Amino acid sequence: MAQVVLSLPSDQIQKMQAYYQADLKPSPQHAAFAAKTSDCSITAYRSGKVVFQGKNPDAEAQKWGTIIPVSSRPDKVHSFFPPDSLYTSSHIGSDEAGTGDYFGPITVAAVYVDAEKSNMLKEMGVRDSKHLTDDKIQQIAKELVKHKVPYSLVILHNEKYNTLQRKGWTQGKMKTMLHHHAISNLMEKIVPVEPEGILIDQFSEPDVYIKHLKSEKKQLQKRVYFRTKAESYSLSVAAGSIIARASFVKEMEKLSEKTGVSLPKGASKKVDEAAASLIHQYGSPILETCAKVHFANTKKAELIAEQKS
Ligand code: MG
Repeated sequence: MAQVVLSLPSDQIQKMQAYYQADLKPSPQHAAFAAKTSDCSITAYRSGKVVFQGKNPDAEAQKWGTIIPVSSRPDKVHSFFPPDSLYTSSHIGSDEAGTGDYFGPITVAAVYVDAEKSNMLKEMGVRDSKHLTDDKIQQIAKELVKHKVPYSLVILHNEKYNTLQRKGWTQGKMKTMLHHHAISNLMEKIVPVEPEGILIDQFSEPDVYIKHLKSEKKQLQKRVYFRTKAESYSLSVAAGSIIARASFVKEMEKLSEKTGVSLPKGASKKVDEAAASLIHQYGSPILETCAKVHFANTKKAELIAEQKS
């Protein structure tokens, strides 16, 4: 489904609300109004942002303002920004999970979606994994595997993560190398097919990514693009985010089973408590095997464990 966003003054939004009076529907939080015509959904936010979604949102949006082509919007900040045509082409997308979680690995998945199969993926419910429950993510991930959608998954387990971190690797470098490997593996898998492009959910400036690759004597593949929130634009990246997340959740379950402590996601206070009970049961070295030990949670957990003993 195509989408167009306009930024409009509040009097214009009031006029729109009157215009769509007959088509109004319950509006989400922070919205001034929402409406649905026969072929377009319109959501106007109090911030002035108006989102048009549907088969041909341009036609509806043009009634209210000038549509600025994506290629000249200010978020085109670098020369690796993808052209709009990439999203509907047969392309690879990659995304990661687990980077902000104290417990568990970093997982990165690259997925190749043949443009002809994009409807099948939409029907499966593939979209930004942040909007899906863990159960739904597992279910879609299984469907993707069942339908042999080509993908490559790489997992950086905690022991290796901690070793690299001590060697001076930043998370940015780790992520770079993981994305690079996932994409390379996938490209080998789909030979002789060549993707029309590769889209990486952007986590750093492209020149930083390239610098990290160079430091490991690797080169950027051909036709690689970066953009933030890529999972909202590309089914391949969305599928990557689902496979990466599903794998992360599975690894977390394995670690919880192995340690006998239910390990929470994230990096909250609950996480400190769980880490403290691991220290209490096994001693601090256990964290090497299941946590990103340079996170501030380690010190907090050690304090809690001390107070308890
Ligand atoms: Mg991401």
